Amino acid sequence: MIHEPMKIPQATAKRLPLYYRFLKNLHSAGKQRVSSAELSDAVKVDSATIRRDFSYFGALGKKGYGYNVNYLLSFFQKTLDQDDLSKVALIGVGNLGTAFLNYNFMKNNNTKIAIAFDVDPEKVGKRIEDVYVHHMDEIEERLKEENIAVAILTVPAPVAQPITDQLIQADIRGILNFTPARLNVPSTVRIHHIDLAVELQSLIYFLKNYTGSEEED
Ligand code: ATP
Repeated sequence: MIHEPMKIPQATAKRLPLYYRFLKNLHSAGKQRVSSAELSDAVKVDSATIRRDFSYFGALGKKGYGYNVNYLLSFFQKTLDQDDLSKVALIGVGNLGTAFLNYNFMKNNNTKIAIAFDVDPEKVGKRIEDVYVHHMDEIEERLKEENIAVAILTVPAPVAQPITDQLIQADIRGILNFTPARLNVPSTVRIHHIDLAVELQSLIYFLKNYTGSEEED
């Protein structure tokens, strides 16, 4: 999670995990310095954007000298709260939800699915990759008890809004929505929407209609 007081543009904030992952690789390889051109080549963000992004974090590098990898790494660690383990809930243990449980988020960052929920009696009461699947009836109590503020939503679209309303009751602050449903939430709750079908369609459209690989901010 990103600390509240630092007001950096949202497009910059979204790139932080990308920079962080690459810097971790550089650090493991024993590299001390990295230029914005090298970073740009690796993360596929143009170097002017990288310099502008980094300018929000203060003087992280000297002109012509590159950025100090250790310094940047500890800066991103603090900014992204990597010292804390972020526990996340998964709602809907279907095909996609099960894939997320099997995928080890911890390999690349400190985020972990700690608890799962479903209504299917075949799934409730089971453990998948050490994560227990609870019944939806327990959601408010369990999330508050575990102090979990982020949920991944992998349920059928028609139930997405009523489940979101339950999540709001349980004081959830962020939802990663993998359903095609557009969700209504109060302004205090943040939704990131990932519709895989739409993403794929837009990729194919771009391939047909645009040249180059540049991505919008
Ligand atoms: P599967 O084949 O395992 O059902 P799927 O991804 O094709 O997987 P979906 O119909 O998309 O199935 O449902 C995803 C998951 O959401 C399922 O495990 C289903 O039991 C669960 N689910 C359905 N309704 C609810 C609900 N109201 N609350 C919580 N989970 C639900």
